[in-house]
Amino acid sequence: MTWPLIPKNNKTATMTQTTSSPSDTKLSQFRVKGEIPVPMLIGWLTLAAVPILLFFAWRSLDRGIPGSATALIVFAVLLSVNGIVYLFSHNSTLQRRGFITAITILFTYLAVNAVEDGSAIIWLFAYPPIIFYISESKVGVLACSGGLAGVTLLFSPLGDLAFDSPYSTSFRLTMLAVLGFEMSTCYVLDQSRRRSKLGLLKLAAEFEYAAKHDALTGLANRREAHEQLETEYQRYLRNSRVFSVLLMDIDLFKSVNDNHGHQVGDETIVMVARTLQEHSRKVDTLARWGGEEYLVLLPETDTFEAVQTANRIRQTIASTPIETQGGSINATISVGVATIQGAESVDRLLQRADEALYRAKTLGRNMVCDFEGTHG
Ligand code: GH3
Ligand code: MG
Ligand code: MG
Repeated sequence: MTWPLIPKNNKTATMTQTTSSPSDTKLSQFRVKGEIPVPMLIGWLTLAAVPILLFFAWRSLDRGIPGSATALIVFAVLLSVNGIVYLFSHNSTLQRRGFITAITILFTYLAVNAVEDGSAIIWLFAYPPIIFYISESKVGVLACSGGLAGVTLLFSPLGDLAFDSPYSTSFRLTMLAVLGFEMSTCYVLDQSRRRSKLGLLKLAAEFEYAAKHDALTGLANRREAHEQLETEYQRYLRNSRVFSVLLMDIDLFKSVNDNHGHQVGDETIVMVARTLQEHSRKVDTLARWGGEEYLVLLPETDTFEAVQTANRIRQTIASTPIETQGGSINATISVGVATIQGAESVDRLLQRADEALYRAKTLGRNMVCDFEGTHG
C-alpha cells in the first residue's frame, strides 16, 4: 500500500495536516489493518441474502402468493449476477453500485408490498449501516434521507391511498422514530469511524516520513538515500543511463561548533541543505549522509554535468554568508563527484566519491574533485 499524504517525489516535503472533513476524503481507497474490504463485505452480504430471499420466496409460494415469490427470486438472481460479474471483472465500483441499487429496490419493494404480512419492512433497519459502510458518507446521508422520506410518504394518508398499507398508527410512529434514530446513530458512528481512519492514515504517513527523512534538515536520511541509489542503479542496469553522486562535506565545520556553539552549527547544516534544495532538480535525491555531510543523487547525469552542478552549489555556498542567530558564517564545502561506470556496484561508486572528496579536502578544500581530477 502506498500512503496518500506525502508524494513520493517530494523528497523535502514536510508533513501537512489536512483539515478536510472525513467525508471529503476518498478514504475508501485506503485500507487500514483489520478493516473489512468493501467488495468482501458485499460478497458476504450477497451470500447471506440469497438463501434468505429464497427461503422467503419458498414461504410465499407455500402461502399462495406467487407474485411475491417471483419478486424475491428475481432479487436473489440479481444479487447473484452482481456477485458473479464482480468475480470475473473485479470492478468494485460496478459491484458496489449494483448492490446498492438492488438492495434499495428490494427494501422499497418489501415496504410497499407489505411482504410477510407487512413484517418485512423491518428489514429496512439493515439498510443504514450497510449503506454507510460501503459508500461515501455523502451517499449514505442521501440514501438514508431518501429512505426515511419514502417511508414517511408510505405511512402518510397519500401512501394509504396509493398502496393500501396494513400498518397500524402506533407501528408507523414507532417505525419512523426508531428508523430516524438508527440513521442518525449510523451517521455519527460512521463519521467517527472515518475520522479514526483518517487519523491512522496520517499517523502512518508521519511515521513513514520520519523513517525516511532527517529531522534537522528535512532531507532524505541515509537509509532513504540508499533506497534511491538502489532504484537508480537498477534503472542503470536496465537502460544504461548513467547517474552521478555528489558527496559533500562542510569544510572545517568543527571550528563553527567550537567558535559559535552547537546551535549555530545546526543552523549552518540547515542553511547548506536549503542551498542544495534551491540548486537541484525535482528528480534529484538530496540526503543528509552524516553529521555535516550530504549526498546528492543526480539521475541521468554524466560527470561533466555533475561537476558543473557541484561547482554551482559550491560557489553559491562560498559566496553567500549564512545568517545565523550567532552572526554571519562563511561556510565552504568540498565535493567528491563520481559517475556510475561499467558493472561496478553502488558501494564502489560511493567509495570513488569518497576518495574524490578526500582529495578535495587534501588539495585545500572549497573544491570539487571527481575520481579523475580537480575541477574548480
Ligand atoms: P573537514 O574540513 O576536514 O571536514 O573538517 P571538519 O572540522 O568539518 O571535520 P570533522 O569531521 O573533524 O568535524 C565535523 C564536526 O561536525 C564534528 C562534529 O561535532 C560536528 N557535527 C556532526 N554532526 C553535527 C550536528 O548535527 N550538529 C552540529 N552542530 N555539529 C555536528
Ligand atoms: Mg565530515
Ligand atoms: Mg567537514
